[in-house]
Amino acid sequence: MSKVFAVYGASGCGRSLMPVAVEQLQRLYGDDYNAQQLVFIDDALAIDTKVNGHVAMNYQRFIDLQPVNKSVLIAIANSSIRQKIADKLVQDGISLWTVKGTTTLIMDEVSIDAGAALSPFVTIAANVTIGRCFHANLYSYVEHDCIIGDYVTFAPRVSCNGNIHIHDHAYIGTGAVIKQGTPDKPLIIGKGAVVGMGAVVTKDVPAGAVVVGNPARPLNK
Ligand code: UDP
Repeated sequence: MSKVFAVYGASGCGRSLMPVAVEQLQRLYGDDYNAQQLVFIDDALAIDTKVNGHVAMNYQRFIDLQPVNKSVLIAIANSSIRQKIADKLVQDGISLWTVKGTTTLIMDEVSIDAGAALSPFVTIAANVTIGRCFHANLYSYVEHDCIIGDYVTFAPRVSCNGNIHIHDHAYIGTGAVIKQGTPDKPLIIGKGAVVGMGAVVTKDVPAGAVVVGNPARPLNK
């Protein structure tokens, strides 16, 4: 059965992850790589086109493609859109594809659910559990004993230290640093919270809060 792979989203996030996807298939298939199909999906496209040299089409066209074994990386930073698309893919019998770079390092006893985008130079340290469709952008790390929920998004260079729990749909901005917790009292970033770029988070962030600065404080104060 032939296979087709896709990167869903042909904007900034998708164009940055496509080369990582190419690299992964080259690792997997070696000389047979050219036989594999790898395309962009983007619903803004009325007709097939090319983006950075790769075939790009909308979802309906992708569904109509003949190979039945399809895997898709959702490369869209907005976590609600990611969830909506993931639900649609699963309903349509399409696998959520995890993509990681050759420089991505994953240590011992790490569990990562389907659909993760682990960019180049990302490190996931030991004894970490990560939910569905996690995005870790360039140079981010997750240190030991962290628990990350579903649809969590890290912009580039996020420093997530040990014993931190990040709940579903949280967004962590570029260069944010989160202080480590302890096994007895992990530091918690609540569901849907937003941590601004460059923030230094020293204590728990409630669900839905937006925090900025050093030390990080709610934006509306
Ligand atoms: N998109 C899509 N289907 C959707 C929602 C978004 O194909 O249901 C595409 C959208 O057309 C755009 C991309 O996803 O090309 C999202 O791009 P954006 O620049 O908003 O975000 P980023 O690439 O930074 O995640």
